Amino acid sequence: MREITVPPTAGLPLQSADLWPWGAGNFAQLMAGWLAVPEVQLQCSGTSALMVALRALKTLKPQRREVIAPAYTCPLVALAVAQCGLQLRLCDLRSDTLDMDAERLQALCSEQTLAVLPTHLCGRVADVEAALQSARAVGAYVIEDAAQALGARSDGVSVGLKGDVGFFSLAVGKGLSTFEGGVLIARDPAMRAALKAAGRTTRFSPWWELRRSVELLGYALLYRPRWLHLAYGKPLAASLSRGDWVEAAGDDFDDHIPQHSLGRWRQAVGARALRRLHHFQRTTAEQARMRVAQLKDCGLDVVTDATPAAQGVWPVILLRLPSQRIRDAVMRAHWGDGSGLSLPFVHALPDYGRYGHVLASACDDDVSQARDWAGRLLAISNSPWLDDARFAQFLSVLEGALLQG
Ligand SMILES: *Cc1c(COP(=O)(O)O)cnc(C)c1O
Repeated sequence: MREITVPPTAGLPLQSADLWPWGAGNFAQLMAGWLAVPEVQLQCSGTSALMVALRALKTLKPQRREVIAPAYTCPLVALAVAQCGLQLRLCDLRSDTLDMDAERLQALCSEQTLAVLPTHLCGRVADVEAALQSARAVGAYVIEDAAQALGARSDGVSVGLKGDVGFFSLAVGKGLSTFEGGVLIARDPAMRAALKAAGRTTRFSPWWELRRSVELLGYALLYRPRWLHLAYGKPLAASLSRGDWVEAAGDDFDDHIPQHSLGRWRQAVGARALRRLHHFQRTTAEQARMRVAQLKDCGLDVVTDATPAAQGVWPVILLRLPSQRIRDAVMRAHWGDGSGLSLPFVHALPDYGRYGHVLASACDDDVSQARDWAGRLLAISNSPWLDDARFAQFLSVLEGALLQG
């Protein structure tokens, strides 16, 4: 019997009852309640949500042109900034956490800075205070990129509320999914009004809605232990056989970011699945807690939340291996074997090549720590489908890799 294909992240599986279009309640209201915020604004993707936020901030400070993001993040961030007619500056990371280096950030911030984007990567809670300090000193805004961190909390409240704006992604692989979707939040009512005004131009698109609905249906059908090799395993194997790691990691994005509304049926699906999200995240957090302890016992460097007040979510467990050589050897041997191994992102942003045209203004920024992280990080799926026996197998693979290293 073939082993099941484990998804690269702990996505919440859909149930057939989720697909019933009527009586699910108002998704935006339910999401606001779930996050314990007064209201949320729904968009068609996390990237689209970021673009709405950037457009809103642009109307507030139209003379400012630069956006500062970590140099190791989702390439969609760079595409969104470019599509808004803004210039991206890349901030290098700290060596000990995935946060932006505070000194470097301070040096990058100027009267030109519109926004700084601390990023809650892979569910880990970022240091938003440090970003706020640098941003406030020059009158810039802070947008918390919480695309991978729906449900993460800091000091007991949802991430996304310390900064001026926060956004979450509902894309496949980020937890709760409407196939694609985005959620905007803001602490300040005036900012929420600005976000609404900036979102007013997004229209319903029958073509996009049809496409996304079919894709969501496909996800509901195939995101199951028996079928995932078709939807995920096979395309991954094809990318890997071509040696295309960027495609294998899903880092190959089209330049143009579609912007349209999130349709009713997909909202109903999200609303129903949301009822199970808390329980699912508690289960995966408990699984992560035990596995992180095991990994640490083996001497592995696990990326965790920096303080007890930060309670992230656990789509994956992030490891930093001693060298890129060891990391790449593990990936070559086990990426694509169905055990749910992946890379958060393959490269630091300037090293993709294919995004050079949107990074022109950022190409002088020194990103050596981000490169180091990109070379040594490895993500173990925290899906419940990765059972203890298979996790233990993988643990011994890692131990072996460390010994040989
Ligand atoms: C996925 C992601 C985005 C974009 O979200 P989409 O919903 O995929 O458009 C932005 N930032 C980060 C860090 C992400 O991982």
